[in-house]
Amino acid sequence: MYEGRTGMESGKIMGHENMGKVIEIRNAVTQIKVGDMVCLPFNIGCGHCQNCESDFTGYCLKMNPGFAGAAYGFAGMGPYSGGQAEYLRVPFGDFNCLKLPEDASEKENDYVMLSDIFLTGYHATELAGVKPRDSVVVYGAGPVGLMAAHSAIIKGASKVMVVDNHKDRLKLAEEFGAIAIDFSKAPAIDQILELIDGKGADRGCECVGYQCCDKHGVEHSNITMNELVMTVKAAGSIGVVGVFVPKDPKSKDKLQKVGHMDFDVGNF
Ligand SMILES: [Zn+2]
Repeated sequence: MYEGRTGMESGKIMGHENMGKVIEIRNAVTQIKVGDMVCLPFNIGCGHCQNCESDFTGYCLKMNPGFAGAAYGFAGMGPYSGGQAEYLRVPFGDFNCLKLPEDASEKENDYVMLSDIFLTGYHATELAGVKPRDSVVVYGAGPVGLMAAHSAIIKGASKVMVVDNHKDRLKLAEEFGAIAIDFSKAPAIDQILELIDGKGADRGCECVGYQCCDKHGVEHSNITMNELVMTVKAAGSIGVVGVFVPKDPKSKDKLQKVGHMDFDVGNF
């Protein structure tokens, strides 16, 4: 979006870090009060469509007609402004606000993680079905990948490997107990398979998306997905939270231009 590769309109307010004090409510809001400190998940749900009632609030059928899913300040996710702003309008306030406890102001930096990053990383481990004693490989050591790795450790994973080439990010992963896989030094697949006796990890999480790059910094949208297949064992499971877009006209890859990728389905 920052690079002009999406349909994001100029001037739109971005941001999924939605947290603050309620300063005004309208008549239909009964549970949230003025003065409450709240955090807002970045997805916007109506709370009463078929998907919201099935707990798939990230795929609400009502808030962004014609598309399953709405979000604050995001391309293609409806007309809603994002949270990097002084004020933010919250639709269906009772449903979308998470009321925070007394220590909300004191622990802002912790609670704001509930708006997107921590939950998105955690969700990757839920989709992958991470369980105690599992070995887990996480592609991407950005904020979401680090939170996925942290979540896997919280869930009792025996070995968590994080793949990236940014040394500062990999250092953070190591600080909370993950194993850094720096693909600028050697192919990630070789490093991972050596660590888990050549069989592949039990679970894998994709936390990069379509802008994943090779060691030369060249984008290939299929790298992480194909490497997941090669480094997660047969009958293992994977969770994908990286963003893959329906079209990317400015990509140099002709498949990626139309939202396709060269996925190694034969090995999947
Ligand atoms: Zn809904």
